[in-house]
Amino acid sequence: MDYLTYFTDKIAQTRKEQRYRIFRAVERDTHFPHIKLHLAGKARAITTWCGVDYLGLSQHPGLKAAMMEAVAQFGVGSGGTRNIGGNIHQHELLEQALAQLHQQEAGLLFTSGYVANEATLKTLGKIIPNLQLLSDQENHMSIIEGIRESGCNKLIFRHNDPNDLETKLKSLPLDVPKLIIFESVYSMSGDIAPVKAIIALAKQYQALTYVDEVHAVGVYGAHGGGISEVTKTAPDLDIIQGTLSKGFGLTGGYITGKHSIIDAIRLHANGFIFTTSLPPHISITALNALALGAELTTLQQQLFTIVDYVKAGLTAAGLKVLPSPSQIIPLWIGDPGLCEAASVRLLEEFNLYLQPINYPTIKKGEERFRISPTARHTLQDADYLIEALRICLLS
Ligand code: PLP
Repeated sequence: MDYLTYFTDKIAQTRKEQRYRIFRAVERDTHFPHIKLHLAGKARAITTWCGVDYLGLSQHPGLKAAMMEAVAQFGVGSGGTRNIGGNIHQHELLEQALAQLHQQEAGLLFTSGYVANEATLKTLGKIIPNLQLLSDQENHMSIIEGIRESGCNKLIFRHNDPNDLETKLKSLPLDVPKLIIFESVYSMSGDIAPVKAIIALAKQYQALTYVDEVHAVGVYGAHGGGISEVTKTAPDLDIIQGTLSKGFGLTGGYITGKHSIIDAIRLHANGFIFTTSLPPHISITALNALALGAELTTLQQQLFTIVDYVKAGLTAAGLKVLPSPSQIIPLWIGDPGLCEAASVRLLEEFNLYLQPINYPTIKKGEERFRISPTARHTLQDADYLIEALRICLLS
């Protein structure tokens, strides 16, 4: 085989389908969301609107100080897997704190939210005989991959539609083990799941529930426990999955649940067992983030002030904002070429960074911008963005 020609053709095909991704080289420092773009050997100041550091905690002075102190004391790495290298004490402390955050008995830390989903779902499929998976149509790639690798039968229910979920549940014998998998805040549409309705169906049809709270932890709830904290549903959910990388500004992922479930995953999940654990400073800093208390509430309020302002401003400007009850603002474009061209123009003429969202992240024809304000954007930043989008998309 002519390997290099094969790869070159593969890339050409991706370009033809307008799916070629341009990664922008950026530098984030204390001025975030005002960041630096490195392009053609030069650096210039731009403003980003497409990260997931919703509360700006990646730049929080207290958390940075806590991390530096932790590095000075405990070093830069964990030295190995939890199993063989040593079960880092700070990871266990964080797991207890995360379990408490979600009103669950136990927690388990993974190297990312992606790995937490993929490894847990794959493992559940392997250890529960004949497990039937019911998955929301808009679930994230990490869930889709976990489902695929589980080898289980799956039924996809219509996005956020309890009626369709019930139809699918009814089609299965009551005594077949079932797992309903959904997200609390959907990353591309910004929708929020009907958590209570899903729990009621799970009880009625004897299913377990698995919720991905990745875009909700930190951002919702007085303690940052996500939508399940706000809706007071946490104790009724079987597995709550989350990340430290978005609302908490760090990196790493986790699951929480009953002791027996979490212990079974700990013993069987290859994505947990066969990899070096996170450095201790991540867990120490995450514990500090979980202890922010009233400051977290203030940051959440700052975030939603900007979110509401941007949504109202874009709508008033005549732009097609998809309805979203969360901090994620989807702006409809519906064409990969237009989306890419607008993104380039925003960057070149207005120094604004909005990455086009295209297939396979979303379906073809549903291309969009995913505007993601943070607690650190100002109203002036928002005014500038709205005017730039109006010029690029409507004039
Ligand atoms: N789940 C959802 C819904 C996501 O959107 C993402 C990432 O964007 C993940 C999981 C993966 O989380 P992490 O970035 O911590 O790997």
